[in-house]
Amino acid sequence: MGIQLFNPLTRRMEPFEPLEANGRKIGMYCCGPTVHDFAHIGNFRTFVLCDVLRRYLRFRDYEVYHVMNVTDVEDKIIARVKEAGTSLKAYTQIYEEAFFKDLEALGCLMPHETPRATDHMDSIIELIERLVAKGIAYSAADGSVYFSIGRYQQAGCCYGQLQKLDFDQMRPGERIQSDEYAKDAVADFALWKARTEADGEVFWESPWGQGRPGWHVECSAMSMHYLGNSFDLHLGGEDLKFPHHEDEIAQSEGAGLQEPGKPFVRHWVHGAHLLVEGKKMSKSLGNFYTLRDLLDKGFDGRAIRFVLLSAYYRESFNFTLDGLQGAKTALGRLDECVAKLEAWQKEFDGEAKPAKSKLIDGFVAAMDDDLNVSAAWAAVFEWVRDINRQISQNALSPENAAMEYQAWLSVDQVLGLGKDLSKEVIPDDITQMAIQRQEARTQKNWAEADRLRDELKAAGWTVEDTPEGPRPKRL
Ligand code: AMP
Ligand code: ZN
Repeated sequence: MGIQLFNPLTRRMEPFEPLEANGRKIGMYCCGPTVHDFAHIGNFRTFVLCDVLRRYLRFRDYEVYHVMNVTDVEDKIIARVKEAGTSLKAYTQIYEEAFFKDLEALGCLMPHETPRATDHMDSIIELIERLVAKGIAYSAADGSVYFSIGRYQQAGCCYGQLQKLDFDQMRPGERIQSDEYAKDAVADFALWKARTEADGEVFWESPWGQGRPGWHVECSAMSMHYLGNSFDLHLGGEDLKFPHHEDEIAQSEGAGLQEPGKPFVRHWVHGAHLLVEGKKMSKSLGNFYTLRDLLDKGFDGRAIRFVLLSAYYRESFNFTLDGLQGAKTALGRLDECVAKLEAWQKEFDGEAKPAKSKLIDGFVAAMDDDLNVSAAWAAVFEWVRDINRQISQNALSPENAAMEYQAWLSVDQVLGLGKDLSKEVIPDDITQMAIQRQEARTQKNWAEADRLRDELKAAGWTVEDTPEGPRPKRL
C-alpha cells in the first residue's frame, strides 16, 4: 500500500506522494534548534522523529536531501546576548556546537545542510522585497516591514491552512512584532524588525534601514533556497504549527514563486510534545532535562534514543527517569537476542539469501501506517521472543539465523540503535595503548600522544572521552 502520512491540512491520513510524480528524490526541511541554550530532551524527541522519517524513506528506496536550519537570531537569543554582554556569534556558537554533539550522541544522521539564518540575509531580504513588490508586505514608519494578512487574503490566498482561525477577532492592520504569539493574536506579523536600542550590535543593513529578520521568514527563505520553491516534507514540533508554519506558508506562497498548482510544502509532519513526569518541562518544577543532564546521570544516548522513539509521534509522550531505566532493560533484552543471533549466524558459510523475515513484514506494516513506531516495537519484541525460543529449542538453522540477522540489521538502519559499544570487548593491547596515550597527554608529551593515536587508528580504533575517562571505540 505504501507509506501513509497524516496530513494536518486535510486532517486525514493520505498516501505519501513525492512532488515529482513517481520520483524517488525527496526534499525534507526540519525546523532546527533556536540556539539560545542547550536543547532539552523534548526538542530531541522532534529531531529524532526527523531522523527516523529520513531513515525510513531511505529504507523504502527514496533518496532524501535533509535540510535543518539553525535559528541563530531571534527575540530570545537577542535578550540572552544582551544579558551575557557578549557578541551574537560568540553566544550562539557554544549552543550550536553542543547541539550537534548531542544529535550525534543520539545516533541521528547529520542533515545534508544546516544553514544558519545569519548566513542567509541576502535570501531573506530578497524574499521580503518580493513580498513588498507584490503589495503583500508593507513598511511601517520605524522601518519595520510587516506581512499584511488582509492583502494576502485579497490576493486569493488562504491564511489559516494549518490552524483554524477566528478572523472576526482580527482588527485590520493590527501588528505583532514578537516571533511567538497565540492564535487569538492573529495580526500582521513582522518580516523585518527595525533596529532598536535593545538589539545592541545585532543588526543588518537592508533596503528599509538597519534591523533584523523575523523568525518565520528565516525558515521560508532558507528552505526554498536549498530545496526549491516547492518541496516534499516539512517537519517540526506541534507548537510550530501556529504561527510559525502558518506564516511560512503565507510568506512562501504569498511570494508566488511556486509553479501553478504546486504548494510550498507537499506534506507537513508535526510531532506531539514530550511531557516530563506528566507535566510540561519547566526549570521551576525540576523536571527540565537537557541531554547532557541525562548523560551525567549515567544514561547513554542509545537508551535515550530508544525512549524518545518509543511512542507514536502524534501522541504526547510522558518521559520519566523510571521509564528510561525500564528502557535500558528492554534494550538489554534486544541486545542479548541480537548478540546470540550474530554469533550463531557465523556458523553459516553459504551465500546469504535476501533478508526475508516476519520482522521486516511487521515493521514495514507499522511504519507505513504514519510511522507507527509503537506498533513497530511490538513487531520487534515479538520477533525477539520468537528468535529466543527458536535458539533455545535448537530450531534455528545457521542459514536462517543469517537471514534473521540481516533482517535485524536492515530494520536497525531505520531505528538507528547500532550495537551496545559499552559491552564491546576491547583487546588488551588497545587498552594499553589508550592508557599510554592518556599518560603522554597528562605529561604534555604531544608527539608521543599523537604517535599512539595514529597507531590506534591504524588498528581501527579511536579514543572517546567519556565521564569515566578515555575509552577506546571502534572507528
Ligand atoms: P526550538 O529550539 O525552541 O526552536 O525548538 C526546536 C524543536 O523542538 C521545534 O521543532 C519544537 O517544536 C520542538 N519542541 C519544543 N518543545 C518540545 C517538546 N516538549 N516536545 C517535543 N518537541 C518540542
Ligand atoms: Zn522553522
